[in-house]
Amino acid sequence: MTTELSPDSLTGLLERARQDYQDLAGRGLSLDLTRGKPAPEQLDLSAELLSLPGGGRHTSADGTDVRNYGGLQGLVELREIFADVLQVPAEQLLALGNSSLELMHDCLVHALLSVVPGAESRWVDQERIAFLCPTPGYDRHFALCQRFGIDMIPVPMTPEGPDMDAVERLVAEDPAVKGIWCVPKYSNPDGVSYSDETVARLASMQAAAPDFRIFWDNAYAAHHLTDEPVEIADLLAACADAGNADRVFVFGSTSKITAAGAGVAFFGSSPANLKWLLANNAKRSIGPDKINQLRHVMFLRDADGVRAHMERQRALLQPKFEAVARILEAELGGTGLARWTDPKGGYFVTLEVPDGCAKEVVRRAADAGIVLTPAGATHPYGDDPRDATIRIAPSYPSLAELEQAMHGLTVCVRLVGYEQRAR
Ligand code: PMP
Repeated sequence: MTTELSPDSLTGLLERARQDYQDLAGRGLSLDLTRGKPAPEQLDLSAELLSLPGGGRHTSADGTDVRNYGGLQGLVELREIFADVLQVPAEQLLALGNSSLELMHDCLVHALLSVVPGAESRWVDQERIAFLCPTPGYDRHFALCQRFGIDMIPVPMTPEGPDMDAVERLVAEDPAVKGIWCVPKYSNPDGVSYSDETVARLASMQAAAPDFRIFWDNAYAAHHLTDEPVEIADLLAACADAGNADRVFVFGSTSKITAAGAGVAFFGSSPANLKWLLANNAKRSIGPDKINQLRHVMFLRDADGVRAHMERQRALLQPKFEAVARILEAELGGTGLARWTDPKGGYFVTLEVPDGCAKEVVRRAADAGIVLTPAGATHPYGDDPRDATIRIAPSYPSLAELEQAMHGLTVCVRLVGYEQRAR
């Protein structure tokens, strides 16, 4: 990323960056680019949900009274809508609570405390448990591992998904490796979608642990930002074809489709894994919120309804992602101080600054009133060994606020980057 500069021009650039930073700090900004939350206008797109299912309607397609207990698998008509989106046949898909993260948490707890199909013992009875963590990745996946004492082994991301040579080696040689976190489409935070080859290798690789599981967190399955939606290969089918039917847990939710934290979460897997989860779930719940599921069916109608709704989401999000790219290019292009991703979907842009600068950029931005996700959050244990990765979440602020925040961020990158070069 380095571009050679003469001492004179470096002094000039540093002086300008210092002046710009002083101006920035003097503006008393209060802006937040931390979490990938939908903006209020995005939530407004689903305003109708608040008045559904309506007074007169309380039965599902098969006549179930959604106001009552039961129906552990969730409404079949909702599972049919999302079968297509999540690449899981409706009969292998469960519609459950309001959060997929909660489901991932529960799957870990259940695997620790009750034997998963194919395992000889519970995970909690094993001396050591480890998960592969494609990095950069989602901080809440890493937080779950920390919470349950699961060792994290970082694996570098490539433009095609995790480095599969490393994944295959680690999974084949170490029976303590019980799982891998994957966000296969428009991944959080680098926007990568897994190639067909990556999916095929994940499905067919040798695993030392008989109970190895891929946590396939397809959180951004329908969240396109261009006219050319990315389609990924069907991992569940590929695993079954490769004789590893029980290898994958598929997760998804409508959190960033309808209402964040008030949508519906899904779990898809093999018949044996479904039976295992349903048996465990039966102990913790007498049934999911089927009223919410019914209102989602009435609102979204079918898979085409989801696609049309996501086009409306895109119309709000795309200008924000374009603004991020435009400002980064205008302010940092050609400086050799930064590289960034150009995601085709999802919720994040990853900004890479010179090694040793990310924490300082985030600190300077915070001092100027611009809050960013803590540097390091994209890495296991919060430790980015190069201190170079910054996650940008453009969705929540208004376009005007986002533009201000991005300008401010580029000032901080220039300041910290040129200060480092001048040392
Ligand atoms: N997985 C990923 C990759 C995410 O980015 C998010 C939200 N930031 C979630 C899961 C959380 O989803 P939910 O609201 O369904 O718990």
